[in-house]
Amino acid sequence: MQPYLALLTLLLPGACTTPHTPAATSKAIYRYRVNLRRPDHDRLRVEVQVPPTRQRQVVFVMPKSVPGIYGALNFGRYVTELTALGPDNEPLSVTRQDTNSWVIADARRLRRLTYSVADTWDQFHHVAGEAGTLYRSAGSAYQPDSAYVLNYNTFVGYLEGHARPYEVRFTRPAGYYGASHRPPQPLNDSVDVVRAPSYRALVDAPVLYARPDTAWLQLGQTKVQVALYATTQRHYAPTLARSLKPLLEAQRAYLGGRLPVDSYAFLVYHAQGRPGSYLGDGLEHSQSTLCLLESPGLADLGPFLRRLTTHEFFHIVTPLNIHSREIESYDFRQPTFSAHLWLYEGLTEYATVHMAIRQRLQTLPEFVAGLESKARDMRQFDNTLALTELSRLVLTRPDQYYNFYLKGALFNLCLDVRLRELSGGTMGTQELVRRLARRYGPSRPFADEELFDVITALTYPAMRGFFRAYLEQGQPLPLAETLAKVGLRYEEKTATISIMAQLTPAQRALRRAWIGQ
Ligand SMILES: [Zn+2]
Repeated sequence: MQPYLALLTLLLPGACTTPHTPAATSKAIYRYRVNLRRPDHDRLRVEVQVPPTRQRQVVFVMPKSVPGIYGALNFGRYVTELTALGPDNEPLSVTRQDTNSWVIADARRLRRLTYSVADTWDQFHHVAGEAGTLYRSAGSAYQPDSAYVLNYNTFVGYLEGHARPYEVRFTRPAGYYGASHRPPQPLNDSVDVVRAPSYRALVDAPVLYARPDTAWLQLGQTKVQVALYATTQRHYAPTLARSLKPLLEAQRAYLGGRLPVDSYAFLVYHAQGRPGSYLGDGLEHSQSTLCLLESPGLADLGPFLRRLTTHEFFHIVTPLNIHSREIESYDFRQPTFSAHLWLYEGLTEYATVHMAIRQRLQTLPEFVAGLESKARDMRQFDNTLALTELSRLVLTRPDQYYNFYLKGALFNLCLDVRLRELSGGTMGTQELVRRLARRYGPSRPFADEELFDVITALTYPAMRGFFRAYLEQGQPLPLAETLAKVGLRYEEKTATISIMAQLTPAQRALRRAWIGQ
């Protein structure tokens, strides 16, 4: 935190106190102005002062996708009326190149851009099969009478080849508060400002703007904010925070007692749904999660919300602390995908189910029932497709993506048991991620093609063949063989799992090492 704050002080000398005499360097940032008081028919008017360029022409880009989303969302499609202006407010020639990019001629004269951005979800009501209902957690909603859900990727862009810091000023509706891991700071009674060292960092910190309903939790050394907007009720965040706390404490214990971040924010938007309707959509960020939930009422939200937030919260391990170059230097215009979604999503999902039994939040039969439903649901997918291959091609095989939460999670179960078997119980996936996090960490990405060799070197030579067979070649998972080692019987034909009555000493020891009972 310190080096970054110092850098900003250097770059923004008195930016807010002396607006008429900015230092030369302060021009070299993007300065956005967004008025949240008056969206025009669900459209946000946006203005940006851009950094100077020496190029003859520049390309203004809106993202095709964002980290954590494995689909082409093309945020440029929400942008209209884009105007480029010179020093005397004269319009410059703009040509729309494709959905997400605009070519601006005579770019040396370019000073400002103005445009209008549509709401990406008018109401949070999913309609089965309706295009665009997926991934609302990466979108934005502008509801001046209730709440703004702001993902910067929907209304902030960049000039290609001009990576610079960002400053975003929001004119906020009276009484509104912006909750975020990178919270908007009040400049005066009506304007808040957010600063970020890069586009990537800005997009990583969505904001929930509403009348305040927030609560704080202390988890060891980590401060956790729970901010809520519910369509039916206010002042519910403390109740929500209380119901999340035992689970977050269990996650902290599972991760070894210390979380890899000093602060974290849960931004929760809740809409009332029809009886029996439970819909959830969450997107993880380095130090926050945006959760969109729909259920009949707030009180019955419990297990549903906890299930969603557990998965998202575990993402602080991967990709935050362990990720490839594709994620570290994310290309918003033309993203390329890492081969390791089995890790980012598969291991995260496995940790979610494994933690529940390990920390005794679940009984063995409940845990087994959860595994069984994954094994059963997995059969609806193409399991001959290698997970590393699916990971790279994820944009072209969206129908298969969900298998990372099924087969991907079960692969990690096999990996966990195999590691514990080879290590005499001392090392499983929990210890493996700790070793990987020590080697890499938040700012040191791995090269995609080296990961299996690195894990093999950190563990056992036999693991290289294990990754080759079950991830790279797409061979059927050794589920029956693996589960038998811990005293569970897997019936391939019916995809059922039962608990063996009599265990050998070896089965008992390995099961205890695996789930602590
Ligand atoms: Zn996830």
